[in-house]
Amino acid sequence: MIDLHAHLDLYPDPIATTKECVERNLFVLSVTTTPSAWSGTAALAKDAPRIRTAIGLHPQIAQERHGELALFDELLPQSRYVGEIGLDGGSELKNTWEVQRRVFDEILRMCGAAGGRILTIHSRRAATPVLECLASREDAGVAVLHWFSGSQRELQRAIDQGCWFSVGPAMLASEKGRAMAAAMPPDRILTESDGPFAQVDGRSLVPWDTAIAERALAEIWGVTAAEAQQRLLGNLRRLVSLAAPSPRSSNDL
Ligand code: MN
Repeated sequence: MIDLHAHLDLYPDPIATTKECVERNLFVLSVTTTPSAWSGTAALAKDAPRIRTAIGLHPQIAQERHGELALFDELLPQSRYVGEIGLDGGSELKNTWEVQRRVFDEILRMCGAAGGRILTIHSRRAATPVLECLASREDAGVAVLHWFSGSQRELQRAIDQGCWFSVGPAMLASEKGRAMAAAMPPDRILTESDGPFAQVDGRSLVPWDTAIAERALAEIWGVTAAEAQQRLLGNLRRLVSLAAPSPRSSNDL
């Protein structure tokens, strides 16, 4: 199983959750919301070759944490993965929009200068501006749009721009989310939990809940769960092969 977007450091017991991911043989992309959280979060997975830790700066806290951009740049050589980054167009964040844009663009610039990264991207109510930023920084790497909730037209633009997608149980619980997933190229989809933020039936999702997303995708694709699993593993291998090598690279993720 694959969880391409989980906040392991934000679970009530991060060590126990990480341990269970290892026991269940999960591939996890452990994302961070600030550069200063990266070292501690990466340490959680130091003995877990299937868990990688992405360096992030979440758009919802860009306003408070933009001072950490220098640290972001300093840490960037240590990971092939970046996220959670992006833009959030929610009305409650309107007064932070300019800072969000500057932070996102600066991060994309740094990723390009570093040779490209795999990026896990937040685009809530901001799909078009996110796609515009990505188009202007093509060398930033491979963009994986997590929990994409734009319009079908924006989805088509994302597909045309070469974006990948990660979808989880919360997104696939709605008719709209399933329709969105059905319109995504099956060879550019991965599963995610977005736990512990994302919930289903009032419960925070855990990384192994991606099994629910696997089953939903199998249904959408009209294949067996085992076939869906194989397809997703193939997608993961291809995605990883697109990333520039880093000093700590290995074959497992
Ligand atoms: Mn997230």
